[in-house]
Amino acid sequence: MTDPLVSRLAAVRSGIDAAAVAAGRSPADVRLLLATKTVPAVQVLTALRAGYRLIGENRVQEVVGKAGELADEEHSTHFIGHLQTNKLNSLLPHLDCLQTLDSVELAERLQRKLTESGRTLEVFVQVNVTGEDTKSGVSPAAVPALLAGLAGCDRLTVRGYMTIGLNSPDRGAVRAGYRALAELRDTALVGGMPGAEAATELSMGMSADYPDAIAEGATMVRLGSAVFGART
Ligand SMILES: *Cc1c(COP(=O)(O)O)cnc(C)c1O
Repeated sequence: MTDPLVSRLAAVRSGIDAAAVAAGRSPADVRLLLATKTVPAVQVLTALRAGYRLIGENRVQEVVGKAGELADEEHSTHFIGHLQTNKLNSLLPHLDCLQTLDSVELAERLQRKLTESGRTLEVFVQVNVTGEDTKSGVSPAAVPALLAGLAGCDRLTVRGYMTIGLNSPDRGAVRAGYRALAELRDTALVGGMPGAEAATELSMGMSADYPDAIAEGATMVRLGSAVFGART
């Protein structure tokens, strides 16, 4: 019998594919990142073995805690939570991409650590497109300055932008936020903004609103509860 988790993964992936097709996009252009916060390593392993190899965690402690059990299965770990810089040392060995870069200061810290360990890191700039005070991320207007501030950080490659959508039943308002992130990416790319050359990805959309994010151009949706069930 198929593991129910594997069935849910397939159903969610079909939903992503359908949303892409409905938007006139190729399903291959939308990756599924599993938001695995609070999900036990054994379930994450099931997902990895079923071929879903991109995971996102919010807490350094969880990344470190699950790393041993996941070590033998190929996967990429993205960090999607707010990062306390005193935990960088424990996080970096397990990290493939930091999606929550929101200051030059953090970039410079990363640059120093990465230089010490002789490696590089992909990052997404987290943007607060909705202007809510409770949300992390830089304002859209501050993105050019942040990118310019990374000029000396040659260990970092900005691969795109991440945002957390508006928590609202107003789908038009949610979509406007996602559209703003897509426009920001396009402006930076087309305008040849320094630091934005490789920044093509848009990480946006969660379980409640991912079809709208895909309609606005998401290249990566971050799904937790749709796959693993409600968090307790
Ligand atoms: C938890 C989380 C998600 C996934 O949320 P769901 O609603 O469970 O899909 C996506 N992005 C971030 C940053 C998260 O913390």
